[in-house]
Amino acid sequence: RSITSQQIFDREKKFGCHNYKPLPVALEKGSGCFVWDVEGKRYFDFLAAYSAVNQGHCHPKLLKTLQDQAQILTLTSRAFYNNVLGEYEEYITKLFKYDKVLPMNTGVEACESAVKLARRWAYDVKGVKDNEAVVVFANDNFWGRSIAAISASTDPDSYARFGPFVPGFQTVPYNDLKAVEEAIKNPNVAAFMVEPIQGEAGVVLPDNGYLKGVEQLCKKYNVLFITDEVQTGLGRTGKLLAHYHDNVRPDIVVLGKALSGGIYPVSAVLCDDAVMMNIKPGQHGSTYGGNPLAAKIAISALEILQEEKLVENSAEMGEILMNKLRTLPKEVVSTVRGKGLFCAIVINKKYDAWQVCLKLKENGLLAKNTHGDIIRFAPPLCINKQQVEEAADIIIKTITDF
Ligand code: PLP
Repeated sequence: RSITSQQIFDREKKFGCHNYKPLPVALEKGSGCFVWDVEGKRYFDFLAAYSAVNQGHCHPKLLKTLQDQAQILTLTSRAFYNNVLGEYEEYITKLFKYDKVLPMNTGVEACESAVKLARRWAYDVKGVKDNEAVVVFANDNFWGRSIAAISASTDPDSYARFGPFVPGFQTVPYNDLKAVEEAIKNPNVAAFMVEPIQGEAGVVLPDNGYLKGVEQLCKKYNVLFITDEVQTGLGRTGKLLAHYHDNVRPDIVVLGKALSGGIYPVSAVLCDDAVMMNIKPGQHGSTYGGNPLAAKIAISALEILQEEKLVENSAEMGEILMNKLRTLPKEVVSTVRGKGLFCAIVINKKYDAWQVCLKLKENGLLAKNTHGDIIRFAPPLCINKQQVEEAADIIIKTITDF
């Protein structure tokens, strides 16, 4: 072997910014719901790159799309038309039933674009005085690491000592409709942006009816309702979009991560003309946003979810996983929660979730703790019954031995 895991850890430590604390595993190969380290050991991937790899690692159709389009045309910028972007725009807007799409690259860019759209709508349509618009978020939201995103954050790890912050942002407790109403009564409010299930906060599910209530309040006070589906979207929770569980129709939907199946950064903002058409040529953009390679990959990624019934599989395999997780010893695991293949366990304070993740790794399953005591389980949605049972047995064995 030319390089060992330890050498890989040491090299990154020496030359890279220490902005992550990875689990000590150095991967070199992936297929479906599995990854292999440089020593050839196989693991179940129960993070799926924070839900970007919903379609499974190195999906053959995505690889073919990547190779085919990469040989023809990869980037033109939006200074010119290309023959693929419109095909993608038509495909994604028909699939999700919105008038228009705004193509971007990463989740944080798409979320920030949604905030810009909301502010512009507030000035041009709602009649808010220039520079006075307010956007409301939920406590413990996570939508990325840009200055705008951390300005909306309530997590000091994210925002502390990176100020000054973007004004016009406000936060309210998650899953609290009264607090939403109190905040959005203010006539300057442009939008309320919320994750249908909070991902980075630790797979936190609101009460049934929360999103419906948010939708009704937003209608009542003429405020845009934005769902950040970057992590929850595209089958993760057992529906194509998580808000489909609640029968709501947000004014703006933000997608990312699995929109490319892990092949390439692709994100998108979906909304109707009443919101989208307030942005005019030259007022927003991105060099790579909507490039032909990304457009082709996104179409394939969305087709795979449907062709392989990954959304239905997420619901079914999620049931199996959750039922298994519910048998975990209460002594170690205080809570099991989730929807579809978006699950988490809360580890009792006297145990260390990081240590549990290290043990899971030794036993052949990769998962990452969040906030010290929560472990998220979110494998690629292509996982089958036998695999999910084998993985659940690893989790049960590891935690029972703890
Ligand atoms: N929104 C949500 C809900 C997320 O979970 C994330 C990333 O974890 C983002 C936005 C930001 O996406 P990206 O890391 O691609 O910028």
